[in-house]
Amino acid sequence: MPDAPSTTPRKELSAPQKAMHKLGLVRDIDLALHLPLRYEDETRIVALHDARDGEVVQVEGTVTKQDIQYRPRRQLLVTLDDGSDTCTLRFFSFYPSHQKTLAVGARVRVRGEVRGGFMGKTMMHPAFHAAGGELPEALTPVYPTSAQLPQAYLRKAVVSGLKRADLSETLPQPVLTSLEDTLRGLRAPLMSLRQALEYLHHPGPDVSLAALEDRSHPAWQRLKAEELLAQQLSQLQAKRERDALRAPPLHTSAGGLHEQLLGVLPFALTAAQRRVGEEIARDLQRQVPMHRLLQGDVGSGKTVVAALAAAIAIDSGWQCALMAPTEILAEQHFAKLIGWLEPLLEPLGKRVAWLTGSQKKKQRTEMLALIASGEAALVVGTHAVIQDQVQFKNLALAIIDEQHRFGVAQRLALRSKMGGPELGAGEPHLLMMSATPIPRTLAMSYYADLDVSTIDELPPGRTPIVTKVVSDSRRHEVIERIRAQVAEGRQVYWVCPLIEESEAIDLSNATATHAELSQLLPGVLVGLLHSRMPVAEKKAVMSLFSGGHMGVLVSTTVIEVGVDVPNASLMVIEHAERFGLSQLHQLRGRVGRGAAASACVLLYTPNEGGRLGETARERLKAMAETNDGFEIARRDLEIRGPGEFLGARQSGAPLLRFADLATDTHLLEWAREAAAQMLVRFPEAAERHVGRWLGTKAEYLKA
Ligand code: ADP
Ligand code: MG
Repeated sequence: MPDAPSTTPRKELSAPQKAMHKLGLVRDIDLALHLPLRYEDETRIVALHDARDGEVVQVEGTVTKQDIQYRPRRQLLVTLDDGSDTCTLRFFSFYPSHQKTLAVGARVRVRGEVRGGFMGKTMMHPAFHAAGGELPEALTPVYPTSAQLPQAYLRKAVVSGLKRADLSETLPQPVLTSLEDTLRGLRAPLMSLRQALEYLHHPGPDVSLAALEDRSHPAWQRLKAEELLAQQLSQLQAKRERDALRAPPLHTSAGGLHEQLLGVLPFALTAAQRRVGEEIARDLQRQVPMHRLLQGDVGSGKTVVAALAAAIAIDSGWQCALMAPTEILAEQHFAKLIGWLEPLLEPLGKRVAWLTGSQKKKQRTEMLALIASGEAALVVGTHAVIQDQVQFKNLALAIIDEQHRFGVAQRLALRSKMGGPELGAGEPHLLMMSATPIPRTLAMSYYADLDVSTIDELPPGRTPIVTKVVSDSRRHEVIERIRAQVAEGRQVYWVCPLIEESEAIDLSNATATHAELSQLLPGVLVGLLHSRMPVAEKKAVMSLFSGGHMGVLVSTTVIEVGVDVPNASLMVIEHAERFGLSQLHQLRGRVGRGAAASACVLLYTPNEGGRLGETARERLKAMAETNDGFEIARRDLEIRGPGEFLGARQSGAPLLRFADLATDTHLLEWAREAAAQMLVRFPEAAERHVGRWLGTKAEYLKA
């Protein structure tokens, strides 16, 4: 049978069109918002005599000589004379067309960097074309582009995109007025979006390139304000949509699980734990699903807060699920929590169910039945918890530990597929926990639809960890120190780096260190832990270590988060220069959990020059200078910038292209207020604004 003819003729895109699509340049507005990386000044012709060494200039003159030389390499040499001076143009790669345009006697316009030099002025590989033609009145924009998309093609596309795009005002008058006030504080007059864009694409020749480069020019300010407003609006919209959802209200009851748990805890809660506990309890009482991030430094005691929240859900007759990113973490991290809750659940005829990837089928089937019947009041596990076969009877609270380790897709899955028949169309409350605190500006900008609770105090009696940055050449001293710690009955972690693209190297690194330490520390049990080991073996090693039988644990970064062994007092991190700042901080947080004075040794391996790279040095310095996770996060943000700090994967939000959260706080504050006002008073304008700026991305933002 012949193929049915296609009803819609397929329009083939040309190569540059495809390249534009790849860059996200689809709509006119996308092109209008595609701003130059830098500008070239082709508005003036300079006399060669006046051109300074190193200056990029445009000159016009007559070719007086053309020559091909073969020493030291084949090259085309052209002498240009503009009447004021001469200049040698030098091309190492050239075509017959070069020779033709640059023939002796031809008048040409040339643009490039002038070099002074002993033999007179020269330009390497200048741009050139036949002289004549009008000089442009504006600077020439140079756009970010790709190999398949020629600059000239893109320039034309931007010009027509800019002409056609609807750039009419979306900001209502009161919002414009408040923007004008904010900008006045920044000494920038208000420009319209069209003015701002036209200016940035084609700035006049008398512009301050400095103001364009540091993005302080009024045109930039307008653009940044617009972008931040769009981002805040879309986040507020997402929050509103969430607020329209329903969740079961959860209450504590007199003499209930929550109260009992408080009674059996071996310590008193810190003031900060009490405060965040109340914030969560208030959310749980509402009929709107909680969407809260609990952040607190490593060791600040988030687990007990999670346990108390779980107790409230169970008190109200609902189920609670707890998820950790890996099996070993789930086990380690929730051991205490289960230790507290299980004895209290038993008299109620309730149980704790485990769900992990490595479970035997029989055990898993058993667990699934407990979950479906509701007998399991608490479900603990890894991603296995959000898999399809899992049917809750009535899940009302989901708690995700180390939430930054889960991707957006997993968080979405959690929200959409949890619940259970008794929940109906409702959604469970969601509590996310993180030990990587988000600096305030970042939270304001990226988590506007998330409520944040912060534990800003450590439990009492902790001795601060002393951090030392030590070169690998002093490794033997470090090993001596381990010997001394173990002799005192203390335990030691030794962490080797994880290099993602090469698990093999990792492993050899960790196994070599394991062999070395075993040999140098006779009589000490030295264990090895890495991600390729079977789960059972991992668990066995971990239980030897947490039981205090193993003196030293050599591991790759599998212990990064969550592990709690208070007797461990020394953490050695090998190749510390390869780790990120927040990762180093997380690792360090594995010690200093008991009363003993703890230390962290950051072993670095200098490069051939005996030195460390700039950012590595900054990271290690920050680690040695502070133990405060918030300060670390602030510096991490400073070193890496928000894009890398958040990682698009975990934020789920398109990162800002124009605004910079480190410097644009005033605009961000304005955008927050303006967004709230616009959504209430000018919903149509708000819609238009978000559509213009985010287009199809807006949906993604709601994830
Ligand atoms: P994290 O916030 O890193 O998850 P954990 O919840 O693992 O921290 O708590 C770290 C350690 O502090 C645990 O051993 C925990 O039992 C203990 N802890 C938690 N709260 C308190 C408190 N208020 N007083 C004393 N110890 C506490
Ligand atoms: Mg924890």
